[in-house]
Amino acid sequence: MMTDIKKQDVDIRWQVLEPGCVVYGGSTAVAFNTGEWRVDTPVIDMEKCKQCLLCVPACPDGSIPVVDQKRGDFDFEHCKGCGICVKACPFGAITMKAGEK
Ligand code: SF4
Ligand code: SF4
Repeated sequence: MMTDIKKQDVDIRWQVLEPGCVVYGGSTAVAFNTGEWRVDTPVIDMEKCKQCLLCVPACPDGSIPVVDQKRGDFDFEHCKGCGICVKACPFGAITMKAGEK
């Protein structure tokens, strides 16, 4: 049984926590909204974007969707705001702004 991380708070006891280093299955990113951790948010300027897609594999969270060979806006359900995509873009099309969105 997986612990529902949304129900964890300071009152939770260690006895109900899952043991560490256990992989329960694939695609757990679908179940967990890691975007809640974000403190800074990437912003794309579509005027500057050349659709080279270099930012897509650079994102460690797979948070840059591609549809019909074109990137879309960020998946803010899972983007953690690491800023790696900003460094990956050779055209300066992505900037970071403070705040979770
Ligand atoms: S800020 Fe990080 S997690 Fe978010 S889209 Fe860019 S590379 Fe991915
Ligand atoms: S790397 Fe920059 S120019 Fe290329 S698709 Fe991503 S945002 Fe657009």
